[in-house]
Amino acid sequence: MPTKALLVILFFCIALPSAYADKKKVEKIVLDAGHGGNEPGAMGRISKEKDLALQVTLKLGKKLEKNLRGRQIIYTRTTDVYPKLPERHKIANEAKADLFISIHVNSSGGKRIRVQDGYRYVTKNGKQYKQARYKYVTTTSASGTECFVLGLHRNDQKEGAIGEYGESVTEEPGLLDPNDPMTAIIIAQYSQAFLENSVLLGTKIQEQFASQNRLDRGVKQKGLEVLAGSAMPGVLVEIGFINNEEEEQYMNSEQGQDEIVEAIYKGILAYISSVER
Ligand SMILES: [Zn+2]
Repeated sequence: MPTKALLVILFFCIALPSAYADKKKVEKIVLDAGHGGNEPGAMGRISKEKDLALQVTLKLGKKLEKNLRGRQIIYTRTTDVYPKLPERHKIANEAKADLFISIHVNSSGGKRIRVQDGYRYVTKNGKQYKQARYKYVTTTSASGTECFVLGLHRNDQKEGAIGEYGESVTEEPGLLDPNDPMTAIIIAQYSQAFLENSVLLGTKIQEQFASQNRLDRGVKQKGLEVLAGSAMPGVLVEIGFINNEEEEQYMNSEQGQDEIVEAIYKGILAYISSVER
């Protein structure tokens, strides 16, 4: 490799982290309530993932709006609709957001049981009878919360998004020029920096859940498409298991939702104070 090219690479390796650090202020946060509309997500005995995710997302947004003045909170949905994943990415990318937080509810394989799910009316010999209606749910003893950050095998998609929305990522016009061979290196460094920040955010959120005595299942990497298409750091928070009866009750309760919101909120605050130092 010619010495000049090597020097240029070295220059960017050294220069880039500080360029990214300058842009670390968290001005816009995207909250993404998982699933919605015809896509209910995981099912519990008394609730559906899409509804719990939306309730917690709206409460979290309210708390952030109230306490983080001067920062913008953006939602991918505020009602029972299903925006497809590319639409969710587009909302985040076009807003030039600094963080993407997706809220989901976990479920896990286990024992299949029959539970009553309301009533139905049957007519026999001209007479109407009320009968119990049943559904099958899979129960689990798994519990706790976990955060996912983007797995490396979807890194190409992440880098594609960073390239496409380069100007909002770098705030330096012309830095990401598709015709410049250096661009791929710069994009890869942004992608790496975003992953590190995503892990930091996930860790801060998990610490808060752990302090509430929720089981801490950790921060994990997974090739989730929802995290791949946005040109910014992001995490997917699994707030509990919908097919664990106790956790489902907790997530449906006012106190449970308030505590979950508090944990994610404090995790975001801790993240902001470490990156904006
Ligand atoms: Zn989900």
